[in-house]
Amino acid sequence: MRKHSKEYLSNLTPAKCYEILVEGNQRFINNLSRDHDHLDMVNETRERQFPFAVVLSCMDSRTSVELIFDQGLGDLFSIRVAGNIVNEDILASIEYAVKYVGSKLLVVLGHTECGAINSAKKSVKDGNITGLLNRIKPAITKAMLEEDDERLFSDKVSYTNVENSLEEIISGSKIVRDLFAKGEIGIVGAVYNVENGMVDFFKNLTAKKQSMIPTLQVVNA
Ligand SMILES: [Zn+2]
Repeated sequence: MRKHSKEYLSNLTPAKCYEILVEGNQRFINNLSRDHDHLDMVNETRERQFPFAVVLSCMDSRTSVELIFDQGLGDLFSIRVAGNIVNEDILASIEYAVKYVGSKLLVVLGHTECGAINSAKKSVKDGNITGLLNRIKPAITKAMLEEDDERLFSDKVSYTNVENSLEEIISGSKIVRDLFAKGEIGIVGAVYNVENGMVDFFKNLTAKKQSMIPTLQVVNA
């Protein structure tokens, strides 16, 4: 079966898509990334695209999702914005991916040492940056209630910020809620560690439908 085809995508389950990302990150951190033939993928995807997952991640130059999940051209929808925040345009992009293209997994990917989060902590105010950072502040408030150590606090905001984005997507998109309730898509939260390349999938709503897993894991604790 051709990988980039409607048939291939429709046969994938959300859980399988999650596995593909977990295995891809394992290859990445073990320096076993595949030798992607990008030109071949250009030919394979020239008429249509069938990305199996949509990933909302930060614009940080170290968190390129195709690289850290060892995927190729046409495999992932990548929505990137500083601090992996959510707004209406981002919700619309996610809805397009899951409803009209058929991506089976929605991932919100934060990362450690996030410049946007650090700026939000310092209450930086400048131009349009102010409004974006305001969207991160609820995660800082939430993390402050739970963590004193500065380093742990920094990483913890990355986790709570992913949780906030997940909650905003679920509360803000009926399309996402309905597809998730029907089991047609999975929803996963993850944090990428810029020190070692590992992705910590700390919140998998696919495994336990609708039940938010409350425990936060802090990397490098
Ligand atoms: Zn960032």
